[in-house]
Amino acid sequence: MGSPTQQVDALILGQGLAGTLLSFRMLQAGIDHVVVDRGHKRASSNVAAGIVNPVTGRRFVKAWKINELIQGLAIYEDLERLLHVKLINQITVYRDLSEVSALNQWDMRRNDKTYSAYMGKPRTDLQLPVRAPERVGPTLEAAQVNLRELISNYRSFLREKGYLIEADINIDEVTQQGGRLRVGGFAARRIIDCTGAAAMFSNTWSKLPWRGTKGEAFRFSLKDMPRDLALKVKHFICPIGEGDEVWLGATNEDYFELDTPSLAGEERLREQAAAFEIAVPRHVEHLAAVRPTVKDRRPLVGQHPTISRLWLCNGLGTKGTSLGPYCTANLLQAMQLKKTIDPEIDIANRFSV
Ligand SMILES: Cc1cc2nc3c(=O)[nH]c(=O)nc-3n(C[C@H](O)[C@H](O)[C@H](O)COP(=O)(O)OP(=O)(O)OC[C@H]3O[C@@H](n4cnc5c(N)ncnc54)[C@H](O)[C@@H]3O)c2cc1C
Repeated sequence: MGSPTQQVDALILGQGLAGTLLSFRMLQAGIDHVVVDRGHKRASSNVAAGIVNPVTGRRFVKAWKINELIQGLAIYEDLERLLHVKLINQITVYRDLSEVSALNQWDMRRNDKTYSAYMGKPRTDLQLPVRAPERVGPTLEAAQVNLRELISNYRSFLREKGYLIEADINIDEVTQQGGRLRVGGFAARRIIDCTGAAAMFSNTWSKLPWRGTKGEAFRFSLKDMPRDLALKVKHFICPIGEGDEVWLGATNEDYFELDTPSLAGEERLREQAAAFEIAVPRHVEHLAAVRPTVKDRRPLVGQHPTISRLWLCNGLGTKGTSLGPYCTANLLQAMQLKKTIDPEIDIANRFSV
């Protein structure tokens, strides 16, 4: 006789950042659910710095919907209260303005009223335990969220409640029967795929405009690094976690064979460390993962076109920390209240034929 099928209202597949935030929202809404996850080893959320940087790129452009996304960061404070762990830190991100062209661009943006809340006056007096450019631009209203601590603590919480199933489930094996979706010993009224970059390789979601970008980073101890700032000169150096740990990264690869740490990645990160004049330990923690990036640079949220009870919350790309709260709120309101998903993130009409 086979093992009995477990009946649930909702099954969340994947417990990275997306699955964690969605599960927490379901908990708040009193929705019966289980979370299935195979482990965090290759999870993007396990290696990310968790930086929210309102003004990005060489042209210092305001991030998409940043005002709204910053409001959404309050969910991390709620999670701090639930898990009794420090998750969110207000930081200032300092950008390199040593080139005159960068300084001009900075000043031009800062004089724009819609940018001024996010950009401070250039500084030439920054004192750090790493080599910094002589002139830097402070990006205000930035934050850093300890994503690894979040997903590991939330996992323990789910385990204690009996809501966590440690298993590997293939989304392509989902079948529809009697108003339920069946897979891996479960019969769920709805399934929400939050498997990050793994979803790119499924048949179920293969027609969405995935890109997938590999990133590598170092995590190690560095004495005297202030806990309220990050510095970006090509790569970031920023505080992370508790104590004196810092994060240095990340690389960006559109073409890669393996999702594991590479020698080429290590070389690039050591070069950056040398430019910062940091002595990185020989046995540094070297991290790698694939970010669930998307060709049209918008998250992928919504319902499968033919399997109506199957949903996706994915495509958080390089900005999961700020996009995660927004996307999970959109998804839950669509599922529970039948509200329209923000058309810019909705997967409807984004499948290729
Ligand atoms: C080097 C690097 C640096 C980054 N820095 C930042 C940053 O500073 N700020 C920022 O906002 N974002 C950053 N990101 C991006 C951020 O990590 C992602 O946007 C976000 O974490 C993605 O979360 P996710 O839950 O969608 O995916 P993931 O974190 O990858 O989680 C997916 C989960 O699904 C599980 N899973 C997958 N397939 C299965 C299966 N078949 N069965 C069961 N479980 C499964 C996995 O085990 C995993 O736990 C960075 C990413 C990288 C790689």
